[in-house]
Amino acid sequence: MTAGTRALLEFDDSYARELPSLCVPWTAAPVPSPELLVLNAELATELGAEPEALTGPEGLALLVGQVPDGVSPVAQAYAGHQFGMYVPRLGDGRALLLGEVPDRHGRRRDVHLKGSGRTPFARGGDGKATVGPMLREYLMGEAMHALGIPTTRALAVVATGEEIARETLLPGAVLARVADSHLRVGTFQYAAATGNPALVRTLADHAIARHHPEAAEAPNPYLEFYRRVIDVQAALVARWMLVGFVHGVMNTDNTTISGETIDYGPCAFMDAYDPATVFSSIDHGRRYAYGNQPLIAQWNLTRLGETLLPLIDENTDAAVEAAIDAVEGFTGRYESDWTAGMAAKLGLDAPDPPLTTDLLALLHAQRVDFTQFFRGLSAGSARDLFLDREAFDAWARRREALLPADRAAVAAGMNRVNPVYIPRNHRVEEALTAAVGGDLAPFRRLLDVLTHPFDERPGLDGYAEPGPAGRYVTYCGT
Ligand code: AMP
Ligand code: MG
Repeated sequence: MTAGTRALLEFDDSYARELPSLCVPWTAAPVPSPELLVLNAELATELGAEPEALTGPEGLALLVGQVPDGVSPVAQAYAGHQFGMYVPRLGDGRALLLGEVPDRHGRRRDVHLKGSGRTPFARGGDGKATVGPMLREYLMGEAMHALGIPTTRALAVVATGEEIARETLLPGAVLARVADSHLRVGTFQYAAATGNPALVRTLADHAIARHHPEAAEAPNPYLEFYRRVIDVQAALVARWMLVGFVHGVMNTDNTTISGETIDYGPCAFMDAYDPATVFSSIDHGRRYAYGNQPLIAQWNLTRLGETLLPLIDENTDAAVEAAIDAVEGFTGRYESDWTAGMAAKLGLDAPDPPLTTDLLALLHAQRVDFTQFFRGLSAGSARDLFLDREAFDAWARRREALLPADRAAVAAGMNRVNPVYIPRNHRVEEALTAAVGGDLAPFRRLLDVLTHPFDERPGLDGYAEPGPAGRYVTYCGT
C-alpha cells in the first residue's frame, strides 16, 4: 500500500492463510486521538517504509491498526505454561498480527500491535496497554538489539489519548513491533491440544519454511526442526546470561520458535552478580531467576518436544527417545556458547571454566556489579570494585598468565563484547516516569545511550553506574 507516492508497508498474510484455525480475524479498537511518541525510523526503512509516510495521518492510523482494504489483522491463538501451570487458551488478548512484511534483506517480518483492544482471547482483560510499559518494551528491545542479541523490535509507540484504569488512571498507548515471527512454543501446545496431528504438521511445516528451511532436507525434518529450535534458544539464553539479562516471565507462550527474545514485561538487567536475582513482583518461587534461565529454557523446549512426538516417529517410544536425545543437546550447546562468551569477556583465547567459576564466586561473595566488572577489567579499574582486593589480585594473576601478548588488542576485543551501558533500572524508571508525565527528553537520551552500548562517551558516566542498592521490583500488570 502507498500513501501518495510515499511507501507505507506491503503486507502478506501467510499465517492467516495457512493456519486459519490458529487465529481469528479481528479489528483494532478505534483510537480517539493518536499521537506518535516514538518511531523507529531505521527499522521502518528496513521494512521498506518511508519514515515520513508513517508519521503522517495514514501512517499513524496504520500504526494503531486502522488498516486499509486488503490488510486483514488476526488475533493469534496460543496456549502456554505460565509459571509451570498449563493454560489451554491464552492467545492475543490485546494484540493483533497486522501481517507480514518483506524487509530489505528479503526476510519476512511480522508487524504486530499490542494494546489494540479486546479480542476473543482477552478473558478478563481490557485489551489495552499504557504508555510506560510500551515505552519500556521499546527501550529494552532496542538495547538488546544494540547488544547483538536476537529480539523483537519496536517500530513505534503511539499514545491513544485514552485513560486506562490500572492501579491509577494511566495514559493509553499502542505498540507496533516487528518479529521474525510470533510463533511460540505455546502455539504448538495449542495446536497439539486440538488433538489434530495434521494441524501440528501444518504448523511445523509453516515454521520450518519460515525459520529453518534446511530442516526440510533432513532425513527426519521434524526432529531436525526441533534440534534447530533447541539450538537457537540455547544460543539466545547464553547471550542473555553473558549480559546479565533476566527475562522475568519465561512462560512457554513467551518462548519463540525463531530464537528471538519476546515480551519485555518484568525483565531487567542484574547489577551485582547473584544467580538468585529476580525482579518480578509475582515470581515468589524465583522460578525465573537469572541463574535458572538455562534450565527453564530447556524445560520449555521439552514442552515443545511433546507436541512434536507424533511427527518425529509413529512409534511413540522411538519418538520419545529421539526427542529426549535432542533436548539433552541443549546443555552442550548452551555450555559451549557460554564458555566461549566468557572467554571473550575475559580477553582469553580459549575458555577456562575453573577461572570463570572462581570469578563468579568472587563477584557473588563481594556483590560486584556484573557489567562494571568486565569493562573495568579491560580499563584496569576492576580491582576498585572489590572489598577484598587481595582475593581479586590472586584471581587476576591467574588470568594474567593466560592472556595473549598483545594487551592492547585484548582490551579492544573485550570492549567489543562488554557493554559500558545497559538499561540500568533506575535510569529506565526515571525515563519512563518523565515520559508518562509528558516529557520524552530523558527517554530519548537513554535510548541514544543504549543504542551505542559499547562506545564509552564523555559525560555519560551516570548511565554506566548501578543505582542505589535495594531490591528493584518490576510489575507484570503491563
Ligand atoms: P503477557 O504477560 O504479555 O505475555 O500476556 C499473557 C497473556 O495475557 C496473553 O494472552 C495476553 O494477550 C493477555 N493479556 C495481558 N494483558 C491483557 C489485557 N490488558 N487485556 C487482555 N489480555 C491481556
Ligand atoms: Mg506474552
